[in-house]
Amino acid sequence: MAWDQVRREDPQQCRKLNIAIDGPAGAGKSTVARRVANCLGYTYVDTGAMYRALAVLAIDRGIPLDDFTSLGELASEVEIYGFDDDGVFRVWIDGEEITHRLREPETDRAVGILSMATPVRKVLVSLQRQIAERGGVVMEGRDITSVVMPDAEVKVFLTADVHERARRRWRDLIAKGADVPFEKVLKDLVERDAKDLEREWGKLVKVEDAVLIDSTNMSIEEVCDHIIELCEEKQKCST
Ligand code: C5P
Repeated sequence: MAWDQVRREDPQQCRKLNIAIDGPAGAGKSTVARRVANCLGYTYVDTGAMYRALAVLAIDRGIPLDDFTSLGELASEVEIYGFDDDGVFRVWIDGEEITHRLREPETDRAVGILSMATPVRKVLVSLQRQIAERGGVVMEGRDITSVVMPDAEVKVFLTADVHERARRRWRDLIAKGADVPFEKVLKDLVERDAKDLEREWGKLVKVEDAVLIDSTNMSIEEVCDHIIELCEEKQKCST
């Protein structure tokens, strides 16, 4: 398995930190992580996209989603490649670009189950740790602060009220032309939260030393500024 990124030069030539961001679905992690990465010249890594890519392949290959052993074997055999391309996180799996399929309803359903498979998690966590070894990454997901990068210099738990998260998601879907009732989006989000909290391995938790950011009443810019300030503090402390 391989994962590649587009790297930018660090304009300030500062020591590169690792930034780990966890939180529930719809809290704004992807938008925030991408902006912080662009601002600092770091690499943005969307770990949810890795789970989604495997879910797409499992569907295509007809692997039953309750066959965790076969899913784990699939994870260790295939090559996943991804990078952020000007606001779109593009992903290839086994040589085929599947970016357009990552957010399909079928993928949404499948990934909720596949991400509970401990054998899959072990493979992806190991890959994510390899990426983090290079430094200068902003990685977001559910288990980044707790399992993947417990030593990251900056750890953030980004959350928001569940109704606000559902409202944001619903507005995005409506803007894309979907005809979906708000209640359905809210119900799906509540179910996804439950799955994230239930997992045997890699469940969503706020680790003690993660900074809690509740974005319910904050703009994206305010959240990003706060995280960048945390990085600047760390940079100061280490010089
Ligand atoms: O963040 P996103 O919604 O794209 O995540 C897709 C799926 O992958 C979700 O079901 C989430 O629980 C799972 N996931 C995970 N661990 C991560 C990132 C995502 O289990 N580090």
